[in-house]
Formats: sequence, structure tokens, C-alpha cells
Amino acid sequence: MKIMAVNAGSSSLKFQLLNMPEESVIASGVVERIGMDGGNFKLKHNGDETEEQLDMPDHAVAVEHLLEKLVSLNIVDSYEDISGVGHRVVHGGEKFSDSVLIDQKVLDAIEEVSDLAPLHNPANLTGITAFQKALPNKPHVAVFDTAFHQTMEKETFMYSTPYEWYSKFGVRKYGFHGTSHKYVSQRVADILGKDVKDLKTIVLHIGNGASICAIDGGLSVDTSMGFTPLAGITMGTRSGDIDPAIVEFIAQKQNRSLEDVMNDLNKKSGYLGISGVSSDSRDLWAAADDGSDRAKLAIDKQAKMIADYVGAYFIHMGGVDTIIFTAGIGENAPETREVIAKRLEKALNTELDHDANNVRGKEQIISKEGSKVKLMVVPTNEEVMIARDTQRLMNE
Ligand code: AMP
Repeated sequence: MKIMAVNAGSSSLKFQLLNMPEESVIASGVVERIGMDGGNFKLKHNGDETEEQLDMPDHAVAVEHLLEKLVSLNIVDSYEDISGVGHRVVHGGEKFSDSVLIDQKVLDAIEEVSDLAPLHNPANLTGITAFQKALPNKPHVAVFDTAFHQTMEKETFMYSTPYEWYSKFGVRKYGFHGTSHKYVSQRVADILGKDVKDLKTIVLHIGNGASICAIDGGLSVDTSMGFTPLAGITMGTRSGDIDPAIVEFIAQKQNRSLEDVMNDLNKKSGYLGISGVSSDSRDLWAAADDGSDRAKLAIDKQAKMIADYVGAYFIHMGGVDTIIFTAGIGENAPETREVIAKRLEKALNTELDHDANNVRGKEQIISKEGSKVKLMVVPTNEEVMIARDTQRLMNE
């Protein structure tokens, strides 16, 4: 069965067509600059890459174009050949603790929590509507970034703020990257031949956005992102945790609006802010190797924050069996893994195997034999998780 996994942004649409249950990728691609001049369509299939420049006024036109292309390239026989569509939705609030088949009620509920993710949820909805229009008789499934973390205890997800902030406005920790954390934690159990229920895992999802998740017996028990994806560890351009009083202090010092200062925390902080060089880890390492103290500081600051979270989650779970590196940096940057591992080794009685660590984008155990805690690289795959959930809900 062919299932389409979709990640719609405000002006872009990423897609992957998967054969299920084999989980093999049939085609993948992206439509960019939807609703803007200079529209761009890319499609990969069987090692061939097709690229087209064409303007697409909205998501519905982009989806029609994509589906027609799949037919004309004989990737699918007809639209009927696509059995279902899974849609990534960033925020499910407290309404969704699992993926769900989309009906009008679900669309309304996603709309209702849109003020929690004003940049993302409306874009996700636009993608859903466009695919529903093109494939009206097919099941559509929403897969939420937040759903996996709905198992956190109240004392974990509550902030120490006035209770009405939570009860009236939903201010609490939600956590993100849930689809990735869930996929990786299940994959680890498969690789080790264990039941996920018997494993305590800490997943380090380190990409441009980054979050840490404590997973006990397959359930998320804590995670570093919070009410928004701004919280947690140092990221490409996001600050991660800071003292909230800094926002008002800087607003006054620089005579700027709160919105403006928040923009700095989201877009001009993290690797980029500390280093002054780049938000990209490759540039950062190149600068550090060229002697930039600030680039080195950005790397060390992130490693320190990660180690602090690992320590907290180790205590919270009463131990840890596996620590997993995933996402762009976690999967591909041995040098970043090394600075992080160095901070964990003594307390966790684990030792990095430097030869094994010299790996990119591949599943591998990277700690030495005999390490009490296993360090591993497990590439994430959110599309597979979306397709799995879509298939599961279609079968239920
Ligand atoms: P993501 O947001 O998961 O796509 O991750 C983006 C980050 O991964 C960027 O900081 C990239 O520099 C980093 N990255 C991707 N490929 C590599 C690589 N081969 N070596 C080091 N870092 C990489």
C-alpha cells in the first residue's frame, strides 16, 4: 500500500511516498515558494531527480501538480493508487495524545489550538485541506509533534507560574519533536532486540532545532522543549533556557519591543548568537578549528546544557540504559558527539569508542564494550513514523 507523508509549511510542502508496510521510499520531494514568485518543485524517484521552476498560487495547486507528476512519471497508476495521507501537525495541545483520523471535528480542534503554534498549525491545516481536496475519498491522518509527550506527569509539565496561566491559557510544557523521539526510542529497542518497555532511553535530537527526551518504557517522561520550541538546549539560532527577566532587561536597555527581543531569542541566538559565525554546525566547527574562541564556546555551551539535561533525566528515571544521538548534527557530526560524550563518561560509566564514533547517518553503537550505558547513533525517520501511524489508523 502506498502512503503519502506530508509536512506542510506556510510556503512549502515536503512529501514522501512510502510503500507500506515495507517502509521503503518510492518518491520524495519538496514544493517551495508556494504563493510566491519563483516557485520550485523537486522530486526524487529511483535515484533520478526532477526539478521544475513554476509558480504555484496556493497549496491546492501545488498538491494537484505533485499528484499529476506522480501519475505522469508512472510512479503511481492514478490518484486511487495512494491509499492514505499522513500529515505532520506541529501542535495538538492537550487535545491529542495520539495520531488521529481527520474529520471536521479534528480540523476544528487543530484550529482551536492554533494560538499555541500560530506559525505552524495554520500552515499544516492548509496542507491538509489541499490534500483533502485532491483526494477526498481517502483517509487523512494527523500526526502531532506534541502527542508523544502527553504522557508527562503534571509536576513535569507544569511551570511554577500562576495556575490560571495553565487553566485559562494552556501555559505548560508541551514538548516537540515527538514523532522523532518516538521513532528513535522504538528503533533502539529493535536494534538491541529488547522490548521498549524494558528500556530507559535518553534521545538527543540535535539538529538546527534540538531537544532532549527521557523515555521510560516507551513513554516520554520529560523533554527539554517547553511551551514553545524555544526552551531547552542551545540550538542553531534559538537560545534554549534563559532567565525570562532578560527579555525585559534587554527591551529596556535597547529600547525595543518584547516581540523584537523574542525574535533575537528565536533567530539570532544559539550557535549563531554566541559564535557570531553561523547557525550551521559545519561552519561552526570550521571556525573553531581556525581558532574562533566564540565558535568553540557555542559548541561547549550546547554540550554543557545537554549534559545537564542528561543528568536530570538520569535522576528522574532512576537510571538510563541507552543515550541516542539523532537528527542532522547527532547523526552526522562525530566531533560534536565526542565533546558531549566526554561530559557524560565519568558519571555514567560509559566510554566512547572513537573508531565506532567515526560514522555518519548510520545506526551504530558508539560506546565501548562493557560501558554501563550504551551510546548509539540512530538516524531519525519522521516520515516512516507518520506512515506507520496512518496505516495503523486506517486499519483500526
Ligand atoms: P536538521 O535540522 O536535523 O536538518 O540538522 C541541521 C544541522 O545538521 C546543521 O547544523 C548541519 O550543519 C548539521 N549537519 C548536517 N550534515 C552534517 C554533516 N555531514 N556534518 C556535520 N553536521 C551536519
